[in-house]
Amino acid sequence: MRVRFAPSPTGALHIGGVRTALYNYLLAKKHGGTFILRIEDTDQKRYVPGAEDYIKNALNWCGINPDEGPDQGGDFGPYRQSERKDMYAQYAYQLVENGNAYYAFDTPEEIEAMRQAAQAAGDHGAKYGVGTRMNMKNSLTFSAEETKAWLDAAKPYTIRLKIPEDEVVSVEDEIRGKVQFESKELDDKVIFKSDGMPTYHLANVVDDHGMQITHVIRGEEWLSSTGHHVYLYRFLGWEDVMPKFAHLPLILSPVGKGKLSKRHGKKFGFPVFPLSWIAENEEDSFEGFKEAGYLPEALVNFLAFLGWNPGTEQEIFSLEQLVEAFSLERINKGGARFDIDKAKWYNQQYILGMPDTKLAEEFKLMAQGRGYDVDDKFAVSYAAMFKERAQFLPDLLVQGKFLLDDKIEEYDQKSVRKKWKGDAEAVMLDYVGVLTEVDNFNANHLEELTKTFLEKKELGFGALFPGLRLGLSGSLKGPAVFDIMQLLGKEKTIKRLQLAPSIFAKIKEEHNA
Ligand code: GLU
Repeated sequence: MRVRFAPSPTGALHIGGVRTALYNYLLAKKHGGTFILRIEDTDQKRYVPGAEDYIKNALNWCGINPDEGPDQGGDFGPYRQSERKDMYAQYAYQLVENGNAYYAFDTPEEIEAMRQAAQAAGDHGAKYGVGTRMNMKNSLTFSAEETKAWLDAAKPYTIRLKIPEDEVVSVEDEIRGKVQFESKELDDKVIFKSDGMPTYHLANVVDDHGMQITHVIRGEEWLSSTGHHVYLYRFLGWEDVMPKFAHLPLILSPVGKGKLSKRHGKKFGFPVFPLSWIAENEEDSFEGFKEAGYLPEALVNFLAFLGWNPGTEQEIFSLEQLVEAFSLERINKGGARFDIDKAKWYNQQYILGMPDTKLAEEFKLMAQGRGYDVDDKFAVSYAAMFKERAQFLPDLLVQGKFLLDDKIEEYDQKSVRKKWKGDAEAVMLDYVGVLTEVDNFNANHLEELTKTFLEKKELGFGALFPGLRLGLSGSLKGPAVFDIMQLLGKEKTIKRLQLAPSIFAKIKEEHNA
């Protein structure tokens, strides 16, 4: 099995593209085959600098690594179509020679005029093809001498595929079954342009053949071109070794209508690109899944399920497990609705499943990026403490901010007003007195001695805990208070608790004033 992912470097790679790459990769790996990256950059007008690097970085971040490609090399290179430019022309001319393609000299204005005229006559889908080509300026309507004269005069021309008049062409799609096209519905696609470059259709077929691709697995939007591709294989004499085709279901918008687009991402506030893409203007810049705090494993798992299912209840699959479980047979025909909540759920599952030490490393990097100085031991305890509360990695910084900052930035004022009353201050000060005598600031030990302290005073937890929590973290919610104390350490714990009464008094005063 030799499969390829063949993106055009026209901008950031949409997650639909990542899913196509993933499915190709999974099938190749499952069958001990080869996964190829081919850059389809023949359309110079749409070329965007930086897009190829973006594609490679995105695949790399997801762990979808090509066996052959522009960076990996391989026996079938080069893997960038612009570097294969000279290979395509001979096939275009061969097709003309054999009567399966022809020169077309029409200007864009003339083609537009043909469309307008057809429209005026009630034909709204008029194409350059079976029904119109005999009225146009091309080597089918010109005499041989005329054609030669135009070519000799270096008039700009394109080469168009000559679609047979009245036939049905069919493909056996691995996902959809038999798909048929009426030849008269197909236009005479341009396969070669006056700039000496092939169009997508010709280059794609020539390369899939040349690179010995066995399975073409691509998005549904390419299904309509497949009739043309079958003709190209046929006319070039390659039909008996033509690859198998599999067209993947569309990824639909969150509301289920239409294809997921980058505009949906902006509208609903979620990423649709794996990595951030920074353009000159805000409108064309996008935050990526990576920068939004998603783990690549979670994105991959989520994407695998957008159009495929294993037929069991299992939802969490590592890349290796996906390779094991994946099959073309279980890819759905219908479009898959994009559900960002599912992506979030996956992310949370992967954060929960991460070893504390690994999560600690990620946390440490983020914390250092914000100017916090954290050591490894602190990072591991911190990560363990907050992992259940983080849907995204950056949530870690928010959830435990009170532990990272020198002092608490915000107190839950309502809770302070409600809970800081009566003996609370006296109890707290006594308790601080006890803490100053403690050397072992371990959570279990602190819990024991706190219980003893309260028992001796014949007090319940309610007499101490609200003030303790508020004094240490600013809020009544959060991880276990003794874990907080252990992580803060003796010095900081005592300092915060000593400062708390005056801060609380001020909060109450300000409210009453
Ligand atoms: N270059 C095409 C794209 O950008 C490739 C389509 C195909 O896989 O045939 O998606």
